[in-house]
Amino acid sequence: MAVRNLWKGLSGGAGDNLTSDGLRLSVLEDFEQTGLAWIWASDADGVLSYLSPGAAEAMGLPLANLLGRPLATLFETDPEHPDTHSARPLGFQISAHNRIVDVTVRCALPEARTGRPVWLSLSGQPKVDLTGRFHGYRGSAKDISVEYQRQIEDSRLAEYDSLTGLYNRHRMHRRLESVLAAFKAAKRNCALMMLDLDRFKQVNDTMGHPAGDDLLRQVAERLRNIIGDRGEIGRLGGDEFQVIIPDVDDRGKLGELADKIIQIVSQPYPIDGKRAIIGTSVGIAIAPYDGQEVEELVRASDLALYSAKNGGRGQFRFYSSDLKDEEEERQLLLDDLREALESEQLELHYQPVVRIHDNHVVGMEALMRWEHEERGWVSPGMFIPVAEDSSLIGPLGDWALNRACADAAAWPDTVRVAVNVSARQFTTAGFVDVVADALQASGLDPDRLELELTESVFMGDSEATEETFRALKKIGVRLALDDFGTGYSSLSYLRSAPFDKLKVDKSFVDSCTQKDQNSAKIITAIIGLSKALGMETTVEGVEAFDQLEVVRSRGAELVQGWIFAKAMPQHQVLQNIRSGEFKIEPSGPDKHRPDRRSMFRRIGIIHGDHRYDAVIRDLSKTGAFVEGLVGVPLDTALVLDLGGGQLVVCKVLRSEGAQLGVEFETPLVSDGAGGLCTRHRVSPYALAAASLPVAGAPSHAPAALSAGASAPQFMQVQVGSGG
Ligand code: C2E
Ligand code: CA
Ligand code: CA
Repeated sequence: MAVRNLWKGLSGGAGDNLTSDGLRLSVLEDFEQTGLAWIWASDADGVLSYLSPGAAEAMGLPLANLLGRPLATLFETDPEHPDTHSARPLGFQISAHNRIVDVTVRCALPEARTGRPVWLSLSGQPKVDLTGRFHGYRGSAKDISVEYQRQIEDSRLAEYDSLTGLYNRHRMHRRLESVLAAFKAAKRNCALMMLDLDRFKQVNDTMGHPAGDDLLRQVAERLRNIIGDRGEIGRLGGDEFQVIIPDVDDRGKLGELADKIIQIVSQPYPIDGKRAIIGTSVGIAIAPYDGQEVEELVRASDLALYSAKNGGRGQFRFYSSDLKDEEEERQLLLDDLREALESEQLELHYQPVVRIHDNHVVGMEALMRWEHEERGWVSPGMFIPVAEDSSLIGPLGDWALNRACADAAAWPDTVRVAVNVSARQFTTAGFVDVVADALQASGLDPDRLELELTESVFMGDSEATEETFRALKKIGVRLALDDFGTGYSSLSYLRSAPFDKLKVDKSFVDSCTQKDQNSAKIITAIIGLSKALGMETTVEGVEAFDQLEVVRSRGAELVQGWIFAKAMPQHQVLQNIRSGEFKIEPSGPDKHRPDRRSMFRRIGIIHGDHRYDAVIRDLSKTGAFVEGLVGVPLDTALVLDLGGGQLVVCKVLRSEGAQLGVEFETPLVSDGAGGLCTRHRVSPYALAAASLPVAGAPSHAPAALSAGASAPQFMQVQVGSGG
């Protein structure tokens, strides 16, 4: 009966060959009843319109609950055994109206989650009429639960990932379980690294799955070479790798190893005579400090990885307890950002680019500003990466382009506007149209619009990227390569892409006044290179007169930095223009203060058996300024408790009032997040044995003073964040 209805619907009414249709139908009905396979159909929107009743029965669900739902939400692939080829094969295939071939799925409805999952092998043919219109799918489905279960068991037994020959997820899990259990007893430590490839999906999508497989094999090979017999490597599925490294807890060494992995994995891969470039991010957690059980440690390394990815990719991170909430934070931020974009809470401010021989403003860079109701001003350095990780960067970037063009149309013709474009936005189909539309709507001369791109636009499909470059040049907009010198800085980018300008990254300016640094030389070289190639250069981030002098003497012509102006809202730009010539005299400090990490961080100072509260004002690898103790003699040996089991032995070199300058016995190492950390931490094993007055490790609860502490030798003063 059911098939009959479907047939009527599909064939659009009865025809002459009712008899042969009738015969076909009864054959189909008989076939359906055998249960060997079922049939299904969807409408043009991918909504399930027919399913053999037997299939619903097999899944243990009423047919009515299934019909009328979009296929893409009704079925899911196995999250534990992700298909390497695509994260969401079914949804993608359906929206692309592709043929569906033997995709293994299960019902995704919550009510189907009870008992043993029923796995279906789904196939379907898109139904397209003579005019090319898509009418939906007709397809078949088969219960393959038994075979699938066996397949999973087999791969579990094999312990190896068949693609790369590395250990598989199950083997890694079991290894970790036994290592951690044994090490706990022996009080040994063990590091766990989680790796996730950046941009792998792009390679897979643009170069094809065999290329993706080839790439994964090459990555595995490189990892094997780097790790050697130092640890065990597994591929957890997709582009996720894991490394177990026993008996290393030195964060200096682990950071170096992670850096090496990142560098080597990021080298180009030869594939099919082409070149693929990917990157990787690494999260690191160390037992017993960050967790003693498998779940804890894996979660800690996952959080660290997540944070590394968010930090801009191509980075490593150590787990720290602050990371726990980061994931949630980001989601909240993203929701708020979406809301802010819709309700027009975002603004663009403009930072002048000044021609330094006559101080004329020749351009403005549009920088996004967001005043959040509760958080206050949120830096684009924080929310842009969050947006880039979601599809929100598309509309956000489009908005900025349109706003900037509209605003710039009101400026003098001699002033250009520069707009930052994220790689993800740049590589989206239709980006060129967005640019053309923004120009058209505002009436801005294309030559007055400059798009600022970073090297990451070259990481994807090179042909598509080149095509976009060509199309943009045809429109007549200008292109600038931003943050030059910080990434791969491959000169081949300059050859292959038609840039009009290079922007020298602020980091070179920061250290250009220091004698022992090469920064000034690098600035000279970049400016020279750029002139030789007929490009302009803007030097970014000039704050002080000594820096301005250095960059001027090195041939800089255009400067953007606080010494001229910070970014300002459009009404202020208009005011400046109205008041006559748009010129800005430099004003700022004479000397740039070399980059010390000024901060306000509460720490503990341990001396004798007493623990004092203090504040770190300034931290470098080799020493710190701390505030909070009065009357500490020079050369006193102290222990700083930076939290999380990080103890630093140091010596007092300066002591003035409540301020101490201390030098560390052992230098700190990079924490991968732009901060510093100790190489080693006090192990929770040791803490359990001795009742040290230490905060943190790993319960994060400040420990009380040990009983029977003697009277404090130094006077402690309260330090407020204002002073
Ligand atoms: P960027 O493109 O490198 O922008 C320059 C950043 O340096 C801006 O930070 C600017 O305020 C800051 N800056 C300029 N001169 C000085 C100086 O003399 N001293 C110091 N300390 N800083 C200076 P901002 O506005 O926080 O933006 C951060 C980043 O966020 C930008 O870096 C850019 O990558 C991104 N961004 C901002 N607006 C947009 C946007 O509309 N779209 C996209 N995709 N990214 C944006
Ligand atoms: Ca920029
Ligand atoms: Ca920049």
